[in-house]
Amino acid sequence: MIKKIIFTICAVAVFAACSLANKKEKTEQQQNPIGEYKIFVLNDVAREGNPDILIAVAADTVEKYRPEGGYLSAINAFLVQRGDSNILFDTGIGQKLVENLNTYGVAPENVHTIFITHCHGDHIGGLLANDKALFINAKLYINRIEYDYWLKEQNALFLKVIDRYKTQLEIFDIQEAEKTLLPDIQAVAAYGHTPGHTMYLLGNSAKTLIWGDIMHLLPIQFAHPEYSVTYDVNPEEAALTRFKAITYAIKNDAQIAGMHIPNSGFVGKLKAIQPEKSWTFEYLEK
Ligand SMILES: [Zn+2]
Repeated sequence: MIKKIIFTICAVAVFAACSLANKKEKTEQQQNPIGEYKIFVLNDVAREGNPDILIAVAADTVEKYRPEGGYLSAINAFLVQRGDSNILFDTGIGQKLVENLNTYGVAPENVHTIFITHCHGDHIGGLLANDKALFINAKLYINRIEYDYWLKEQNALFLKVIDRYKTQLEIFDIQEAEKTLLPDIQAVAAYGHTPGHTMYLLGNSAKTLIWGDIMHLLPIQFAHPEYSVTYDVNPEEAALTRFKAITYAIKNDAQIAGMHIPNSGFVGKLKAIQPEKSWTFEYLEK
């Protein structure tokens, strides 16, 4: 039995009427073709979300938006298949990555491309197994701003990853707001959570925006995109980017896939009631 949760957010500033978002079945999500792609969530961890990570949010605000069952969170990666090509977006911490790939008949050596949203451990941890590169045949795409930041930080996990993948690295620049990396895959600058945090827009007609860590606690951050979390390296920039990401998803008529979106890992297409001021969203739950 599939249970749907639909949030109608009409709390930020100047709101008028709200309406419900389109409904989608989970099976449809899992088989949803993105142009010629298929996209699958690889759920590494499912757990209780912690509203305490929100910066300067009043307790009554947290209570106001608390969903039935509490705030849930997850650590996800995504697998995109196009013909014989297997593409990963992030790798989680690696807890269930190989097992999850197996369920889709994909062995690590058959992953050809990996796009990284940013270099926190819960996104790049799955790149290594027993201290070695797990994906020996994959090109590893990282935004140069992100790469430079973690290099400067001398982050131990990052240094290990780039050492093990040194012949596979594809460090890219986004000169404008977005850049096409492969046909139907665009990297979109979404800086703030980390200095080089990057979203990816997939598809031609049916689009998916893989938005990384734009949000950690959806019910409250959709209502109040201005609230950042303690993990945001630059909370002010992250808040501005959150507004832009929502607008970008609406403008592109894209469903959203997120690394910390619980349940299915997807949010259906957003509906703007008043552009940039009010919207509805839904995610799916088993
Ligand atoms: Zn994260």
